[in-house]
Amino acid sequence: MRIVSSQGFELRPTTTPTDAAQRDEVLQNPGFGRYFTDHMAHVRWTHADGWNSGEVRPYGPLSLDPAASVLHYAQEIFEGVKAYRHADGSVWTFRPEKNAARFQASARRLALPELDTETFIDSLKALVAQDIDWVPTPASEAEESSLYLRPFMIASEKFLGVRPSKEVDYYVIASPAAAYFKGGVKPVSIWLSRDYNRAGPGGTGAAKCGGNYASSLVAQQEAEANGCAQVAFLDAVEHKWIEELGGMNLFFVYKDGRIVTPELGTILEGVTRDSVLQLAADAGLKPEERRISIDEWRDGVKSGEISEVFACGTAAVITPIAELVTPEERIAGGEQTEIASELRKQLLDIQYGRAEDRHGWLTRLA
Ligand SMILES: *Cc1c(COP(=O)(O)O)cnc(C)c1O
Repeated sequence: MRIVSSQGFELRPTTTPTDAAQRDEVLQNPGFGRYFTDHMAHVRWTHADGWNSGEVRPYGPLSLDPAASVLHYAQEIFEGVKAYRHADGSVWTFRPEKNAARFQASARRLALPELDTETFIDSLKALVAQDIDWVPTPASEAEESSLYLRPFMIASEKFLGVRPSKEVDYYVIASPAAAYFKGGVKPVSIWLSRDYNRAGPGGTGAAKCGGNYASSLVAQQEAEANGCAQVAFLDAVEHKWIEELGGMNLFFVYKDGRIVTPELGTILEGVTRDSVLQLAADAGLKPEERRISIDEWRDGVKSGEISEVFACGTAAVITPIAELVTPEERIAGGEQTEIASELRKQLLDIQYGRAEDRHGWLTRLA
């Protein structure tokens, strides 16, 4: 018999679900991105028929032809969304329509088919409903556990010619997650990449695609070799404007109430970035989206004008920057972490249902 979820996804439950004791053990200490739930959502697209109907099927290896174009030409995009369990047991996600719109923009840039917003959100609902027991229940406010959802789309046609794939598969997998940085919110050191750029004008910097991450890995290795947690990239043309980290956007807090973040263009338009801009404005700060140079950072911290620097993204929420390390110098991140901590708290309180959702940012998944 064909069983269909309320979102219209065909349900094909696993015959070998993880037993409850084993799952609870994983949920005690999930780390990040190491364990996956019992199911995944899937929707297939072909050039001839468009999007097929979706299914929720057992989590497991994909069968791909070795000539599948994603394996050769990296025609791939992804998203990152979290599901948060509220105190009453219900499960919610944060601004999924922004992720859906960004996924559509990424698809256009990578010549992949666009998935409509409703199907994107329905795929999250169908998967989370099936694997609801995998959504962690945070024991306290300090325990920022969630179910991390990873939608992605790959070019799966068996063809080595260079052109957009005529067969594409969209999946959502889910992974229980503890706080991203181990040991709580500590300011982190970041490494300034001089030899590598993340994105250039006309490139794929504004798309969330695997290729951007592949090209950032050597810079990330360099960061770690220099004792840093993350890498910061400058613009590819003048090598002086701060863009972002490998997977997080940056903010600079000024003593006079301005809060500056690099303007859009070659950076990824973070949902957290956009939410921080709104929360900062709500708090009476003065947000500015504009270019900010490495010199402005150095001079601003030296003069005391810049009081805080922080990074933000879905996975790690908001993380203060202790210092920027370059081959020539160390530039401090600012003396304080007050605004970063306050914005972080406000964001988490909304996401976990502890504060009023005054901007209508939450969508119930289950
Ligand atoms: C995903 C991502 C971010 C953060 O975006 P959020 O929507 O806030 O999670 C920032 N930079 C890059 C390069 C990213 O891939």
